[in-house]
Amino acid sequence: MRAMTDAADEPDTDETHPSTAGGRLLELQRIDTEADQLTHRRERLPEREHLSIASESLTEWERLRSSMRARMDELTSVIEQAESDAAEVAAHKVRLEAQMKTVIAPREAEALMHEIGTLDEQTDALDTRELEALEEQSEIDDRLTEHLRSESTLRDDVGAADEALQRATSEIDAELAELAAQRVERRTEFDESMLARYDRVRASSGVAVAQLVGHRCEGCHLDLSAAEVDDVKDEAAGATGVAECPNCGRILVV
Ligand SMILES: [Zn+2]
Repeated sequence: MRAMTDAADEPDTDETHPSTAGGRLLELQRIDTEADQLTHRRERLPEREHLSIASESLTEWERLRSSMRARMDELTSVIEQAESDAAEVAAHKVRLEAQMKTVIAPREAEALMHEIGTLDEQTDALDTRELEALEEQSEIDDRLTEHLRSESTLRDDVGAADEALQRATSEIDAELAELAAQRVERRTEFDESMLARYDRVRASSGVAVAQLVGHRCEGCHLDLSAAEVDDVKDEAAGATGVAECPNCGRILVV
């Protein structure tokens, strides 16, 4: 958590209050880096992935349930239609049979017989259609009963995954709030121009402040020439107390 153990003259506690400008900048940078890492972790929590998988399973389960229920409704319509058509055909047949009793001419009787035969065929076809629909309904009903059994498990999974995610994010959020408060306090220790410089370099490089260790800038990991080291040391001895890396432009703590 505290990457700043190089500031050996400072006690490694939360009360650390570096006396030099460079030390204060490194502390500000530490806070911002830690907040960046937490934000990154918050976005990539495994709990987020778990919730997404559980939610997808539930959505797929709901989709299947809807499609089965829709098919059940369709079949109900098929059955109702077949029954109402069959009733019409039956009524028609009753009328023809009554007519049959009054017919004398054999050709007319033959025509009626033929028509009654056609109605019987229609009735058979309607009965078959209704029976098939009833069979399919019964089969879907069994599947639907089985399907509904997994509902509570799926909903519990989503609830548990959601809770786990809330827990994980709220822990991180508490840490982020703490860091934000520290950050506000630290920033009061700098003047406007240093803050503007820090923010500008941080926006372009992510990490604004680096230490010079030997000849090497710890920000870009490039070595400075002896002349450059002399220059940055001169610069750091000036009013701001820090220098600028000639290679990466980061604020260099010498
Ligand atoms: Zn550099």
